Amino acid sequence: MAEGTRGLNCCLYCERTFRSRPYTNRRRKACDRSACQQARKRDNCRQWLSHNPGYSESRSPKLRLWAKSHPHYWRHYRKENPKYYERDLERRRKSYHASVLSAKHNLRRREDREILAKLEAISTNGFSAKQIVRNRRVAVVLDYLLKLVHSAKQKPLASS
Ligand SMILES: [Zn+2]
Repeated sequence: MAEGTRGLNCCLYCERTFRSRPYTNRRRKACDRSACQQARKRDNCRQWLSHNPGYSESRSPKLRLWAKSHPHYWRHYRKENPKYYERDLERRRKSYHASVLSAKHNLRRREDREILAKLEAISTNGFSAKQIVRNRRVAVVLDYLLKLVHSAKQKPLASS
């Protein structure tokens, strides 16, 4: 019985076969190797969080409060766990870059909307302002021209 294929499973992570423990009903997805168990745990956490939206947000005020009453905890933790510290640093860097990129993206969209509004305000004939704004270079040149037109309207050209 021990040598048969009954109870043999394929690990979801390393794709090696492993024998599930006898008399356990639930089909195991990962073998005993610690890397696979960690991966399984990570996936389970991710799945749980996706089924419980808002959990992290509801926890963060409590965490912040706790951190305030234990001011040296994280400093010590980082010192004693340099690998964690490096990973966290990298995560923070990525998160920061993503937020900067998103801010730039939003700014660009806002600028585009402003240019579009200006164009539509002065649009005279047939062309689609939206189509023009989609081309970023054209939009920048147009913005420059609009500024020129605007300043020319404000102060009439000096007589030559
Ligand atoms: Zn495995």
